[in-house]
Amino acid sequence: MNQTSIALQRIAPSQTTAMTDRAIALKAEGRDIISLSVGEPDFATPAHVIAAAKAAMDAGDTKYTAVGGTARMKAAAALHFARDLGIEVPVSQVTISAGGKQAIFHALLATLDPGDEVLIPAPWWVSYPEIVRFAGGEVVKLPTQAAGGFRVTAAQLEAVITPRTRWLLLNSPGNPTGATYPAEELRALGEVLRRHSRVLVMSDDIYAPIRYGAGAHATLAVECPDLADRVLTVSGVSKSHAMTGFRIGVAAGPAWLIKAMEKLQSHSSGNPASVSQAAAVAAFEGPQDFLLDWRERFRARRDLVVGAINAIPGLSAPVPDGAFYCMVDAAPLMGRFGDGEKLAFHLLDHGVAIVAASAFGGQDGFRISFAADEAQLTEALRRIGSALA
Ligand code: GLU
Repeated sequence: MNQTSIALQRIAPSQTTAMTDRAIALKAEGRDIISLSVGEPDFATPAHVIAAAKAAMDAGDTKYTAVGGTARMKAAAALHFARDLGIEVPVSQVTISAGGKQAIFHALLATLDPGDEVLIPAPWWVSYPEIVRFAGGEVVKLPTQAAGGFRVTAAQLEAVITPRTRWLLLNSPGNPTGATYPAEELRALGEVLRRHSRVLVMSDDIYAPIRYGAGAHATLAVECPDLADRVLTVSGVSKSHAMTGFRIGVAAGPAWLIKAMEKLQSHSSGNPASVSQAAAVAAFEGPQDFLLDWRERFRARRDLVVGAINAIPGLSAPVPDGAFYCMVDAAPLMGRFGDGEKLAFHLLDHGVAIVAASAFGGQDGFRISFAADEAQLTEALRRIGSALA
């Protein structure tokens, strides 16, 4: 008998974390598995961040903090929003959570009523539609194609907005495609949004430092300042500073929404982890120059992976503009494997964990995370080539 709630029954487990757990279990059994399933930089967390976490513990920063984060952490987040994203925001409009995921969860839970529609460009990050469904919203899929850079157009947006539309979720650079919106396309989307005052926008900018094209990062709250009072910008230290395990996300948006998120947080986690906040302060306030070096290392890995994928018969992939994922099209192989999930299991049998495109609202392919070292990537691509030969 299924004793779970109707809300829980509406959702599926995260397939990125499920595949990663499966790879960990197989490795524990002694199997030789290269895991390219999770988006997690392999770089060591910077030493000054670790030192700050240790110092916080030694200083007794091991107790509850304010629900939305310490004053020091909020100030560091405001610094990050201003310096790195161009969003000038007072600390009263900033909140800190257990990873960006919790901020998204709380924002959607705090604002969706049954039947409210949420527009999500697809391929999408696995958790977006599940959080929407759990919160009682309706997922409206906005399909995008590789030929269009996996970006939605203003015309496409205009065509799907209804009186029930509550949110548009934007993720630039995006997971799993690397889709990166230039400033003029954001302004065109803003033109449409201006005509629909009920629509809020989630701008998930967690991959902002990992961009391969020229020019500065563009974000909606900056390109359309008149819309900033209905934009929630989400960021964090997990991807940029190799701090996934610390679980610190930051969000900036209108005061009423930040307050609503903190109201929920007061009952869910209570507060972000105290030691993690001290570490994230060091990440935002400390040196940032190594991020450029990391980005160039990601670029080399991206080129390695995309080149190797396109050399394997039946596989193809566009060059992603940002983040550290490569979306692989395997449509020519579907006659042989049936669907992307069967292909994913076949590759797992050959020692490589990736995630089927269906997890991201796509089809006939898979996502590779190239946040692993070159030797592992080279061997993984060799295994994929021989598994499909
Ligand atoms: N965001 C990362 C990914 O897509 C981490 C796992 C998750 O939260 O989905 O792989």
